Amino acid sequence: MTGRKAPRRDGPVKAALDSVRERCDTAARRAADPVSFAHRYEHDEDRELVALASACVAFGNVKTIRAKLEDLLARIGPVPSRAADDLRGLRRRLRGWKHRVFLGEDIARLLAGARRVQRADGSLGARFEAELLRSDRERASESDDARLRDALAGWCDAIRAAGGLGRTGPRRGPAHLLPDVRGPSGNKRLLLFLRWMIRPADGVDLGLWNVAPARLLVPVDVHIHKLARNLGLSSRPSPSWRTTVEITKALARFDAQDPTKYDFSLCHLGMLQRCPSRRDARRCDGCAVMPVCVHWRDRARKIHDE
Ligand code: SF4
Repeated sequence: MTGRKAPRRDGPVKAALDSVRERCDTAARRAADPVSFAHRYEHDEDRELVALASACVAFGNVKTIRAKLEDLLARIGPVPSRAADDLRGLRRRLRGWKHRVFLGEDIARLLAGARRVQRADGSLGARFEAELLRSDRERASESDDARLRDALAGWCDAIRAAGGLGRTGPRRGPAHLLPDVRGPSGNKRLLLFLRWMIRPADGVDLGLWNVAPARLLVPVDVHIHKLARNLGLSSRPSPSWRTTVEITKALARFDAQDPTKYDFSLCHLGMLQRCPSRRDARRCDGCAVMPVCVHWRDRARKIHDE
């Protein structure tokens, strides 16, 4: 605790977010979310691999992503960990699969690399925990998010090396599939994967890894960034690593032990896609966070004063 006074708006914003969370139809929302694919598997090694592939290809329209993942997993077969033990066989099964810049060949290398890390370290989680311990030791003077980022970079490097998933070459797919977290990007897909693995099992997240949820950073895409600005949780102009840290710090004022617990329900807010980010009575109608939206501040104050 720093002893610094929390901003005056924190109470109402927290209450609004808690209410959104409580009212979220988790089961229905999960069914439409890419995390649902990992829940289909019984064994942790399969869940890790399927969650990794699902998060890494989570680009674009969610319906298309789900259709592509259905096809991908059907090709891989009922036991992904067994399939990933055989890179040549997996490449054959995934020949012809494509989603945006990613080819089946890229997914095969990602999964085979991840499987080799599982075999060497016991699980992807064990490797990540080891990377985090190393980073905490070697970079003790740096911030929490810098150490998490360094651990994630080491973990990605291990998977890349084990699967032969190169970062250079004529196509963008291999580099883009497992992004370089050392860059300025917000790294939404990898932070989403970490949330699935680390947050306690709650019907959405899987709670497979032994890492404190307090260490997580919220996965920020353009919609979450826009919403964070509308709630006064971010002042930065675009999504980036620094924006991610800023939003997570704001959410940590509401729950320091589990700042990313609001992410799933916020992602599934019905208005997220149509939010105009300005006062627009028609488009804002029914928005669950309207009472704390900065664009409707005067109205909320008026209602309060009446
Ligand atoms: S009230 Fe309107 S502008 Fe504010 S977050 Fe909701 S939809 Fe967006």
